[in-house]
Amino acid sequence: MDRVVCVQCPVGCKIKFELSNGRIVKVEGNKCPRGLSYLEDELREPKRVVPTSVKVVGGNYPLVSVKTSAPIPKKYIPQLMEKLKKIKINAPVKAGDVIVKNIFDTGVDVVATRTVLENSK
Ligand code: SF4
Repeated sequence: MDRVVCVQCPVGCKIKFELSNGRIVKVEGNKCPRGLSYLEDELREPKRVVPTSVKVVGGNYPLVSVKTSAPIPKKYIPQLMEKLKKIKINAPVKAGDVIVKNIFDTGVDVVATRTVLENSK
């Protein structure tokens, strides 16, 4: 049987599954129905929340941590990292500020996860 680890909650169930003609025919190890939805999504189009950081100009820190507001398809992650590498935002930045809206038309935003104040001169 193949395996995936469900990341929908901290329990982290190890889900074993069998496919036949591309369809799931056997599933074990998920402690709730969300595990089956997660497995179906993983097989159809795997998605992840992406945590990273973005450069800040004039802040008390040179970077601000950011993450996607929801999981995005894994295929977009390299493009997202390239895009975020080129971005510089001006301080101040508040936790929760939207840094990039509707990334790649996924309906998901990239948001700041901490506050960076203006550098005091
Ligand atoms: S299957 Fe349910 S209990 Fe297990 S990790 Fe996924 S969400 Fe949590």
